[in-house]
Amino acid sequence: MPEVPAVPGVALSAAVAEALAPDGPLARAVPAFETRDAQLALAAAVSAALADGGVLLAEAGTGTGKTLAYLIPAILSRHRVLVSTGTKNLQEQIYFKDLPVLREALGVPFTATCMKGRGNYLCLQRFESWRDSGAAAMGNDAYYIRMIDEWTRESESGDRAELEDLPEDVPFWKEIAASAENCIGAECPRHQDCYVTRMRQRAAESDLVIVNHHLLCADAAVRQSAYGEVIPDCHYAVVDEAHQLEDVATQYFGRAVTSYRLDDLARDIERALARNLVADAQRADDLGTGVGRLRDHARAFFAAVQALRTGTGTFAEGRVRIGPAHTARAGEEGLALEGALEAIEADIALARDLPEEVLALGRRAHDVREDIRFLLRADDPAFVYFLEVRGRGVYLRASPVDVSEIIREVLLERMKTVVLTSATLTTDGSFQYLRGRLGVRDAVELRLDSEFDYARQAILYLPRRMPDPRSPQFATAAAGEIVEILKRTEGRAFVLFTSYSNLREVRAFAERELDYPILVQGTAPRTALLTEFKATPNAVLFATSSFWQGVDVAGDALSCVIIDKLPFASPGDPIVAARIEAIAARGGSAFGEYQVPLAVLALKQGLGRLLRHRLDRGVLAVLDPRLRSMGYGRRFLASLPPARVTHSLEDIERFFQQAEP
Ligand code: SF4
Repeated sequence: MPEVPAVPGVALSAAVAEALAPDGPLARAVPAFETRDAQLALAAAVSAALADGGVLLAEAGTGTGKTLAYLIPAILSRHRVLVSTGTKNLQEQIYFKDLPVLREALGVPFTATCMKGRGNYLCLQRFESWRDSGAAAMGNDAYYIRMIDEWTRESESGDRAELEDLPEDVPFWKEIAASAENCIGAECPRHQDCYVTRMRQRAAESDLVIVNHHLLCADAAVRQSAYGEVIPDCHYAVVDEAHQLEDVATQYFGRAVTSYRLDDLARDIERALARNLVADAQRADDLGTGVGRLRDHARAFFAAVQALRTGTGTFAEGRVRIGPAHTARAGEEGLALEGALEAIEADIALARDLPEEVLALGRRAHDVREDIRFLLRADDPAFVYFLEVRGRGVYLRASPVDVSEIIREVLLERMKTVVLTSATLTTDGSFQYLRGRLGVRDAVELRLDSEFDYARQAILYLPRRMPDPRSPQFATAAAGEIVEILKRTEGRAFVLFTSYSNLREVRAFAERELDYPILVQGTAPRTALLTEFKATPNAVLFATSSFWQGVDVAGDALSCVIIDKLPFASPGDPIVAARIEAIAARGGSAFGEYQVPLAVLALKQGLGRLLRHRLDRGVLAVLDPRLRSMGYGRRFLASLPPARVTHSLEDIERFFQQAEP
């Protein structure tokens, strides 16, 4: 992109304030636009950060209009700004809704590219060889091939989201997706037409690059190995939903070997052989034998890995923590598998005139072998090692215990400016917890309260008496309270649980006692459940972790959010356990420094689902008595929205009666 001089700080602040003024261009272009003090304050802080550099930590409560408050300065700054959101949905909302409005309203020309993870895009090279191999010519796949074929003739982006009729879980997508592992880069015959190449070129010339945290972290992780990255160099970044960054980074900066990864490698080698890509007959024969050995040893290895579950005490959500003593028990099978991979690497290295596609398979075999070796050693104190069984897949993983250094290195120190923002960044009114987790040293801090009038719009119900949440009586008592609250709110509620077992118990009781439609997480995809919830009068949604954040239901359909227990992360989870140990090892109090703030942020997120608009009203309920009975409860109470507190169900009734015209 040609260098355009950046707008000086003072001029940028003035231009941003003018854009958001009561008689400014936004007010003229957007019918319901209102100037909001918090939005102006955030926009001013973002402008200063973009002009002066450094890190800005900005907590902007619900209703602030945070997205426009960072997009407008980003556009007017004339810098190339990377914007990272928590989900693909938020990305699409910015790209397809907010940016067109701003383009129109600001009258400033700018370009933008929306980039998702590489796995969302079609790989033309892999698609064509899959299509031509005949492997997909049967059944439904043949229908989808025709559909994708036609689509490739018109699609500009190659993003599968455009294929509305392609089911989310079609098994063949991963065989034709443009994932980094399978890409042969500049050697690819389709490199010039490739959707990812074109997206990267567009992004490199764009003023705004809209990504999500998954891509941001995946890209930074491959950048460390200098292969496969797609995000162009940017020096200015805005990270929205920044409270999610630690989790996503933990996922991408670890190492993992899965049964799927080995299966995919074996299958891709077989395909290469079937397409006669290895001309040397002797090597092709050897590779054919090698793949058979690879499959056998992979099977034996993952059976041995799965057997490690027996005798390990720490089991949470399907994860089992392991150490060198456990992995030693799969050592023999691991060595045999490493040997099979090494033989494949050697066969590929010895063969002559191989196309890049086959050489890439050799590199993949090498990378898996290195990862297996690292995972079986299980002795790097910076990592926590665990295994996970999900569906039919077995995962052997190592995750970094602390990602703060990584985030500092790959994000904070690489950029001139980083804005970290979210509705939930502080606990006890302080950014200290988040600074520690994300490796933020010097930063400007800004805290803006929600624009909603909680005193008028909401009521907070804390039942007077509840049993200890760890006692067997808790679920029954919670079920009774939940039914009584739902009768008064006439459904229209999210009931958020910290565990499936409580959800199941309460659900059985609620279904007997209530006539309202009860939707349950896990019975349909998340988006389908949300659409049904919005469309079904008086619906109630019972859900666990994935509905605690990123869910937006404005209006009457959601008039109540009930939370059963304080959302402490399970100390049985290997990553949480390792983090607790690391804090204890340096003499800190893991409970006070880590577990409580983490749970406070989760609670703030959950309760934040209720009010999404100035006209929304409703009841928040937290059934956990520890809020009032334990010393640390004060830290949670101090972080709750400033709604009137009640202990009486009748108050809930009265609150809704007042609302009626
Ligand atoms: S460059 Fe990579 S992603 Fe693009 S078509 Fe070729 S192999 Fe596929």
